[in-house]
Amino acid sequence: MGKPTGFLEIDRADRKYRPVEERLKHYKEFVVPLSEPEIKKQAARCMDCGIPYCHNGCPVNNQIPDWNDLVYRGDWKDAADNLHSTNNFPEVTGRICPAPCEASCTLNIDDKPVTIKTIECSIADRAWEEGWVQPLPPEKKTGKKVAIIGSGPAGLAAAQQLARAGHDVHVYEKNARPGGLLVYGIPDFKMEKDVIARRVKQMEAEGVTFHCGIHVGQDLSAKYLESKHDAVLIAIGSEQPFDFFAKSPGRNLDGLHYAMEFLPQQNRRNAGEPQKPKTNEISAKDKHVIVIGGGDTGSDCIGTSFRQGAKSVTQLEIMPMPPEKENKALSWPHWPLKLRISSSQAEGAKTEYSISTTGFTGEDGKVKKLHYTRVNSNLQPVKGTEGALDADLVLFAMGFSGPVETDIVKEFALPVVPRGRFKGLDATDRDYKLATSPKLFCAGDIRRGQSLVVWAIREGRQAAHAIDKFLMGSTVLPR
Ligand code: FAD
Repeated sequence: MGKPTGFLEIDRADRKYRPVEERLKHYKEFVVPLSEPEIKKQAARCMDCGIPYCHNGCPVNNQIPDWNDLVYRGDWKDAADNLHSTNNFPEVTGRICPAPCEASCTLNIDDKPVTIKTIECSIADRAWEEGWVQPLPPEKKTGKKVAIIGSGPAGLAAAQQLARAGHDVHVYEKNARPGGLLVYGIPDFKMEKDVIARRVKQMEAEGVTFHCGIHVGQDLSAKYLESKHDAVLIAIGSEQPFDFFAKSPGRNLDGLHYAMEFLPQQNRRNAGEPQKPKTNEISAKDKHVIVIGGGDTGSDCIGTSFRQGAKSVTQLEIMPMPPEKENKALSWPHWPLKLRISSSQAEGAKTEYSISTTGFTGEDGKVKKLHYTRVNSNLQPVKGTEGALDADLVLFAMGFSGPVETDIVKEFALPVVPRGRFKGLDATDRDYKLATSPKLFCAGDIRRGQSLVVWAIREGRQAAHAIDKFLMGSTVLPR
């Protein structure tokens, strides 16, 4: 701990955003990094508590007080090495993690946690700028071959760990570029995609082979992959969206779309990547947009709609408005339920709570109105509160139920439970195995259910540990 009195002397300061009117003109990141002296000051606020709750709050167990201390002392290289020892992609989590570490920071008792995420991002960005992030190919190859299906954060983290352990790693991805939701779901304004591309390059130099544009189960049989590899990791995410309005009046009108039909189109446009064949391009330009669902995906739809030139954006959330401030005595050091205004919401969206959609009406086959009722705290309709909102584009961002139940899931006859996980496994299972074959493993959203990038990275790392142990009898890969 560099400065024992830091937390008493220095106020919390965090990164600011560029002004709304400026950032809405483009799809680039708009977070303004703190200066180096300011980052060092912020790192000095870490108390190095006897029990660092932030370690536990962080799913990859980042050694936060250690690198805060190193940054305070100006030892950025060691800080970067320390950070990479627990997290394969800290420049990703430094940008888009909701930072459960900050919720569990002891200084959060007073609402002024250490700006851990900002410090993490600075360390990771600096490591890239200084050329400290280099490929780490293995000294020896093991002769074992591993196939990874899916290249989201879980698949990527596992691939990097396994390649560094000397295995011949092949990643199969149905999209044109690796990265999963990091590339096709999360908008560029939250994270520009060269952040992923340079990691992919690093991994290729470490011996990972990416096979993109291959839909396993359709273009290539999963059983074939199993027969040709010593282990197979399934990391295909949770891509089946919930649709609570399947039977609602007007559901077949034009202009109603899942978030993940809308968001990837814009990311592809930004990258100059052609849309998928037979894509109907969706645009929010000059439209009244309604986003149903109050989470990250909903926020991404808002920010993208504004950048496309929406006339208005309204977000509907069935749950009541959370309290502005949590009851720390009940919640700390856990993730609290409290009102959070995302940067996209702050760009001018109107958010309505305790509201439920009852149907849609339109003209000439196109949606024009969304009908709603207010609901009580038991989510039951309140009579006399019905109404309608102008709606030219409605985006469903209500979460994901699990894998798309075609291809691999059918091929291996994997039993899927409603919230996305494979039956018989739960998030506490430490072998990451699938009971149907000793060679089969799974990780990420497919195993945990819809979750966070930082959890997917952890799952990928731990699956790699389990696979290396299965292949070699023992492993030195960290859990
Ligand atoms: P995914 O990232 O979904 O990757 C799975 C990959 O498998 C995909 O590339 C897919 O194309 C591929 N695949 C699937 N089936 C096949 C097949 N048969 N053959 C070949 N390839 C296949 N989390 C955060 O922490 N912060 C955020 O800001 C955030 N924002 C989000 C925004 C959106 C719009 C969404 C939808 C999610 C967001 N999340 C966020 C959640 C986070 O992105 C996921 O939890 C995480 O990406 C899961 O990682 P994964 O590797 O398990 O799966």
